[in-house]
Amino acid sequence: MAAGASADAGGDSHAFDVVPLGVAGGVVEGSTTAWYIARKGQEQGLACDAGTLVPGIRVAIARGGFPAGTRAGDVLHRRIGAYLITHPHLDHVAGLVMVSPDDSAKPILALPEVNAALAADYFNWSAWPNMGDRGRPPLLARYHYQDLDPVAAPVPVAATGLTVTAFPLSHGGALSTAFLIRAGEQALLCMGDTGPDAVEHSTRLDALWQAVAPLVRAGHLRAIIVETSYPDPRKDAELFGHLTPRWLHRELARLAQLSGGTGAMKGLPVVIGHIKPSVDGDPAIAATIARQLAEGDGPPVRYVIAEQGAALAF
Ligand SMILES: [Zn+2]
Ligand SMILES: [Zn+2]
Repeated sequence: MAAGASADAGGDSHAFDVVPLGVAGGVVEGSTTAWYIARKGQEQGLACDAGTLVPGIRVAIARGGFPAGTRAGDVLHRRIGAYLITHPHLDHVAGLVMVSPDDSAKPILALPEVNAALAADYFNWSAWPNMGDRGRPPLLARYHYQDLDPVAAPVPVAATGLTVTAFPLSHGGALSTAFLIRAGEQALLCMGDTGPDAVEHSTRLDALWQAVAPLVRAGHLRAIIVETSYPDPRKDAELFGHLTPRWLHRELARLAQLSGGTGAMKGLPVVIGHIKPSVDGDPAIAATIARQLAEGDGPPVRYVIAEQGAALAF
């Protein structure tokens, strides 16, 4: 279904068009994590993470994820008006680095530590030419680093009609980010890699849930995009900063508790990405995660296993 012309889940009342450009948590080049997100009816949107760009755009065009006749360059140069980067792991930035010589000028919005890592570790004239406007000269300045203060007032994102607030997440000792993206009073949460608070010895997810609970209560949170990297059972010591269905249930139960009970979460779309594929392409992994999410005792949300290029509307 075409972004901008979708009559999916939200019908005419939807607020956001989402096209998964990459849905895997590593292993496969060509479908690592990236989400195209646009305000309904708005031509220019953003990419939340950029592990895969051109291959995902091509798949999306072939599947009707963008309007008929759209070229990959239209999506890359015009529809993606900005990047929100959750953290600098390769499976979230490889597409951005690879396409940068053929990209249009645009901002990269991220927490200061994430932008600093992009400048130091990738756009440094060693791993890749410096396409940014910071770091080792000469600066090609195709990309403008825009630092986001954590948990601050919403910041407008280029010409997308969207605003964003960044919330830090704990990811196996690394910093990651959840982006709360708003279109007017409607909101969508795009979460980067994260472990459960109990395993990470963190309170960052709890702080995020406290911040979004009022939106859930008001019916303004339209969807949560979140990772579920591994099926259960998996030892906590082998989560490496990721979630399983059991842990996602627990975290969503905490959000429900803060939102006034599980009733507030009924039917809330929770979009699952970043499933770790096997080298042999075992389709049972995603099916197992889907079943475990559906069967567990979490809040009555609506789980959506994201497919590359298949447009969604919320
Ligand atoms: Zn990842
Ligand atoms: Zn990661």
